[in-house]
Order: sequence, then structure tokens, then C-alpha cells
Amino acid sequence: MKILQTQNLKKHFPIRSGVFLQITGYVKALEKVDFEISEGETIGIVGESGCGKSTLGKTLVKIYEPTAGSITYFDPTGKVHDITKGLRKDVRSIFRKDVQMIFQNPYDSLDPRMTIRDIIREPIETHRLFNTSQAMDDYVRELLTKVGLDPDYGKRYPHEFSGGQRQRIAIARSISVKPRLLICDEPTSALDVSVQSQIINLLKQIQRENQMAFIFISHNLDLVYHMSDRILVMYLGNIVESAPSTAIFDSPAHPYTQALMSAIPSWNPTERKLKDVKLEGEPPSPINPPHGCPFHPRCQYRFDACSTVKPDPVMVSPGHICACHLHAEKQKDEKIVS
Ligand code: SF4
Repeated sequence: MKILQTQNLKKHFPIRSGVFLQITGYVKALEKVDFEISEGETIGIVGESGCGKSTLGKTLVKIYEPTAGSITYFDPTGKVHDITKGLRKDVRSIFRKDVQMIFQNPYDSLDPRMTIRDIIREPIETHRLFNTSQAMDDYVRELLTKVGLDPDYGKRYPHEFSGGQRQRIAIARSISVKPRLLICDEPTSALDVSVQSQIINLLKQIQRENQMAFIFISHNLDLVYHMSDRILVMYLGNIVESAPSTAIFDSPAHPYTQALMSAIPSWNPTERKLKDVKLEGEPPSPINPPHGCPFHPRCQYRFDACSTVKPDPVMVSPGHICACHLHAEKQKDEKIVS
């Protein structure tokens, strides 16, 4: 069963300047994003910094309001709600319980004035999961044990813990309400390398035990490959390729994905007989994105149409979608020949 679906989702942030703070431009963080996620599925979202992946996560949980497009939420009974419109209070409450997010920086995501017990208890109380205070405290202890922490840590404050321990606390808080979807926004990027794998293993274990859907946002392709069933590759606010993880890694179709793959030493393109594609320069500014294909200023395969016409997504194989003129041209040629 589906949980979330987006259609033509856009998020533009206004830039204001001058004495009267007039809008002088927009940061176009998301441009026409279409995807869906179902129960138990893990979708990885990859791309360089500033490609819009964190904005997408925050827009899905309604930290940001979309500029245009829709986000459809399928509640546990299968009823369909457009969450970009005002939600009834009861539906809003179910949505907030069902879709949780873990943030990049565990130093900022926990209130320093609250004890760990109160931090984890807060959503449990809000959603009235238990009738008695003792039952809630027992559940908090159970959650702390589940994420590999001493259950007596509930009396302490966030500053008493390391980054890895704080991320474990944030995970305990977000899984406390048994969400159907957990959005993990670069959950290990602020942590020491030595604890990154522990947090990844913990997330995998939680997913196995609870059959939760995950959206795993990261700039680390290797990590996303090991976590995800399907991968979306983002560039300048656009999804340029979407496919099962093995297809992305074995036969990347978009020149940008090919360049990202070529940059991973453990996925050496020579050994794997993939094209060795160089990624040169920096991504253009999302304030003034290029016309046509957003990747054309950096693409070694660009041709005339690339700088004027934005490519539509085409299916390169079942479940494998790529937005590049090369594939649309190839399909046209194949049709002519057949
Ligand atoms: Fe390169 Fe053109 Fe494909 Fe864009 S549409 S990725 S510029 S070949």
C-alpha cells in the first residue's frame, strides 16, 4: 500500500532585499518532483550538496510548504488526503505519527533543556499511546535498550552524550510512535566514521523488525546502495534518474549518475566496464538555473537541443526512468528501425 506520492512538487524560496524586503528572486530548490513510496520500501535519494534532497525531505513532513504541486498521503485505512491543503485535526495527527524524520545534526535536534526521558516521552504523550505514566516510562526504557543505550540514561541531558549516542536518542524518539515511514536526512554525516556504521546497522535492524518504509537521503552513493531498494538521483531540484538500486549501479543511464558512479573508487568503472564519465565544475546556482537540461553546462555528451529543451523522463527499462535527450533519441531511432 502506498504511503506518500508527490506530483509536480515545487519548492521555491524567495530572496528578499532592500529596505522594504522586496522579493528580488527565488532559490528554486525543487522543480517538478514526482515519486511515490509504499509500505516496507526503502528509497535512497542522492545528489551533490544543494541539489534539493534535504528540502524534499522537509517538504514531505511539512516543515516547508510546497510552492506548487501536490503531496498525497494514504492513511492506514487506505483513505487518500492531499496534505498540501489544510488537513482535518484527526488526519493531521495520524499523518504526524505515521511520517517521522531524523535530521542530519543530532546536536541541534534534541532540546538541551529536556531530559532524555522527556524528549522520548513527548511524542508518546502527544499521541496518547499509553494510559499510565508508568507504562510510558517503561516504554521509554524499552526504546533506549532497543537503540543500544542504557535504560537509566533517561535521567540525563543531551549535552552528556556523544554525537552517536544523541543520534540513537533521536532515533528512539522518532520510532517511539511506530511510524510507517521514517525519513533519514544524512543521519550519519555529522558523526565520526567509527560510529557511522553502528547507526546504519541500527537503522537496518529497526527496519527489519518493524517493516517501516525509509527515505534515506545521502550524498554517499555507496551507503545509499546498501540501504535502498530504489534510488532517485537529484540534480538542481530535479529527479534525473530513478531505478532499482542494482540498475543504478550496474547500468546508470544519465550522464550525471554515470559521473557520480565514476567518482566512487570501490565502484571502479574500468573493472565494471562502465563509461568513465568526468564530473567537472560546480553545479550552477539554483537561483538562476540553466535553460534546457539542468545538467547541460557540465555534460560531456550535450548537443544543441540540450541547452534549449528540458528533457522529459523516459523509461529505459522496466522501472528505470531517466530524463536525458540521449535516451529519448535512442528510443525514436529504435522505433524507426523497427
Ligand atoms: Fe547531457 Fe543532454 Fe542528456 Fe542533459 S539531456 S544529460 S545535456 S545529453
